Amino acid sequence: KTFEELGLSQPVQQALDLKGYTTPTPIQEQSIPHLLEGRDLLGIAQTGTGKTAAFMLPSIDRLRDADKQTPFKSCRMLVLAPTRELAGQIAESAKDYGALAGLKVHSIVGGTSVNRDRNKLHRGTDILVATPGRLIDLIDQKAFKLDGVEILVLDEADQMLDLGFVHALRKIVALLPDGRQTLLFSATMPSSIKDLSARYLDNPVQVSV
Ligand code: AMP
Repeated sequence: KTFEELGLSQPVQQALDLKGYTTPTPIQEQSIPHLLEGRDLLGIAQTGTGKTAAFMLPSIDRLRDADKQTPFKSCRMLVLAPTRELAGQIAESAKDYGALAGLKVHSIVGGTSVNRDRNKLHRGTDILVATPGRLIDLIDQKAFKLDGVEILVLDEADQMLDLGFVHALRKIVALLPDGRQTLLFSATMPSSIKDLSARYLDNPVQVSV
């Protein structure tokens, strides 16, 4: 199949042309049509499978379709990742793909200036990539809210649990508006991840690559 056949819009296809991607990877082929329909997703996939594009591309199209304003001190798509390195990589791809769609992308991670994060998020953003701890800090300081979130992605959820972020995740999810779309990716499927998906996902499509 081609990216066009998966239902992605012209601007997103242009971004893919620029990157030189011609063929969807298996996780992209299996996930993108369902995600464009707004379904929740449980994806069992390792890094290197193309999972970042699998969740970014259809989400960018959904954000474009909904055509809402960037929310004040909030975001429309929230991607949580376990480490600074992964958050940085996700934000870079989000910028590559989102630029043509005119979407603002920011990332916030621990170990950097909180004040700078406060300033850069003041006007809100379309896509926020964050590590859970730093996001909680900004919420506690009333510098950021979650009331604008339409799409939540939990990437490498098993690693986030291993790193002790379970309470941070619980607190974050409790602050999200109802009716959002939720995507959970994990390399492994221990019972803790099954619990998490039962709690946070609504009738998810399951994809395993
Ligand atoms: P990820 O699993 O998201 O970390 O992606 C692994 C690598 O594959 C990244 O460097 C992507 O830029 C690249 N990639 C993702 N999708 C495709 C595709 N359809 N064709 C070629 N490369 C891709």
